[in-house]
Amino acid sequence: MRQSKLFTKTRKEVSSEEVSLNAQLLLRGGFINKEMAGVYSFLPLGLRVLKKIENIVRKEMCEALGAQEVLMPAIHPLENYKTTGRDKIDVLFHTKLNGGGDLVLGQSHEEIVVPLFQRFVSSYKDLPHGIFQIQAKFRNEPRAKSGILRGREFLMKDLYSFHATEECFDSYYKKSQETYHSIYKKLGIGDCTYFTFASGGTFSKYSHEFQTVSPAGEDEIYLCGECNNAVNKEIIGEVDACPKCGRQKKDLQVKKAIEVGNIFPLGTKFSDAFGLTYKDEKGNDKPVIMGCYGIGISRVMGTVVEVFADKKGIVWPKNIAPYTVHLLSLSAEEETEKIYNSFLKAGVEVLFDDREKSPGEKFAESDLIGAFLRVIVSKKTLESDSVEIKRRNEEKTVLVKKSEIVKYVQEIME
Ligand code: ATP
Ligand code: MG
Repeated sequence: MRQSKLFTKTRKEVSSEEVSLNAQLLLRGGFINKEMAGVYSFLPLGLRVLKKIENIVRKEMCEALGAQEVLMPAIHPLENYKTTGRDKIDVLFHTKLNGGGDLVLGQSHEEIVVPLFQRFVSSYKDLPHGIFQIQAKFRNEPRAKSGILRGREFLMKDLYSFHATEECFDSYYKKSQETYHSIYKKLGIGDCTYFTFASGGTFSKYSHEFQTVSPAGEDEIYLCGECNNAVNKEIIGEVDACPKCGRQKKDLQVKKAIEVGNIFPLGTKFSDAFGLTYKDEKGNDKPVIMGCYGIGISRVMGTVVEVFADKKGIVWPKNIAPYTVHLLSLSAEEETEKIYNSFLKAGVEVLFDDREKSPGEKFAESDLIGAFLRVIVSKKTLESDSVEIKRRNEEKTVLVKKSEIVKYVQEIME
């Protein structure tokens, strides 16, 4: 992509109302546009990041968990929420059909997926299944001051699993934990994201969250240095030691953290509400056992910004950077064109700053945008037939022969 053709531009400043770091940097970089508090458009650079996060999550859902993707509607009949008793929850956006009929905007999809799945299940042979989607959710959040960490409209991956037996559910639930760890690792936040015991389990003592340590977090977790798990402070009241390894509460470290995912054993709560049953081997009707599994896709994007940003701007991890290479030409247009074309030919994702701007401006914008690698072509580097390459998260620069730069980048990306 030629930067001269990008319709968005970077900005030096944003409104002083913008208090969160992720919103400031994403707005300045031209990744997002704010439409109102908690409601954002994703612009070309931002959408590339969002899609990469989505695709990492999607692939793991399909391949590691064998789940199937669907797309459910955003408008739901209120009736279904009366059935589950969730019609009074405070974050629901309410609306109406012209001819009457109460609707809500989907804040989660149990009320849709359970009746949907019910049409296709009759016997134990139809179980287990995992169904997921990646879709906008709507919540009338009272506070929306954290940029894309807390949207009133935001993107979530939500998976629902259906099982005949507790054993089957348990093994799937365990597998989902491994899959989540592997997802956060691929997203670049594996080292600072902790498996966390939290309240909200319907049929079990806990639900489980994945919490990324960051000063921007709205949650507080007690981190156990012994087993690397954590407990959400909201529930620690009743707990006096790490539920995993027994380390005493006084020896746990308190940290601010962002909830990037949450998995719940649902038991038969929703199956009972809708009468979702299957026939077991003896022909008896039994309620289906369920779990639900969320990941905040857009929140993860904001989290990555919060965790890795430095004074100069955003630092995207390798797998979700909007572009692998930011190619900067410093008065060496002809040679840079050639290198740009060889990157394109090799399928390397490259943003080419082909604009007439001073080196200082180009560097500053490049640091703000935060592509994984920066490649500079200048008269000076060309004296030795080379280009200069630098990782966004390192200070060190390396000179590489221009004929070898594509291979050099490909090897880094392997
Ligand atoms: P929170 O406690 O932060 O309000 P929640 O526990 O209500 O979140 P869940 O219902 O567990 O959220 O939703 C699943 C995931 O969706 C969360 O783990 C989080 O990553 C993401 N998420 C929830 N609310 C928002 C929001 N308003 N904006 C962006 N992401 C969100
Ligand atoms: Mg949650």
